[in-house]
Amino acid sequence: MPPDNPRTFTGRCHCGALRFAFHTAVPVARWSVRACQCSFCRAHGAVTTSDPTGRLVFQVGQGAPLQRYRFGLKTADFLVCGSCGVYVGAQIETPRGAFGIINTLAMTPRPPELPAAAPANYDAEGPNERLGRREQRWTPLDRTI
Ligand SMILES: [Zn+2]
Repeated sequence: MPPDNPRTFTGRCHCGALRFAFHTAVPVARWSVRACQCSFCRAHGAVTTSDPTGRLVFQVGQGAPLQRYRFGLKTADFLVCGSCGVYVGAQIETPRGAFGIINTLAMTPRPPELPAAAPANYDAEGPNERLGRREQRWTPLDRTI
């Protein structure tokens, strides 16, 4: 059955240099919303989501100071605006393609029906588990930035 009513949700950093468009047919109330408990996400208060059946596009303004921050197992780029400091999402490239998540706090507007975030702790994962989880749960990306 084709997905019903795919919708596009947009978001941006504070200064607008870094943007995303998240396409999903999943109703907002059923989104998987996660508060990752790693020290990076806790410091940002990040609340992320993704849809493996959706599509995600990140855009960066020409000449904008995008910071691709890598830490821990260094398998993903955490995308932080170098001007305003907002964390908008993360991307990863694997042999199966490119995948990403968005920080719902950067959504414009942030849908009021967004579910409460469930705490998530991935500390026990090894590199292969982490890659596999992201390939299965993150949103396919048209391209990385
Ligand atoms: Zn910015």
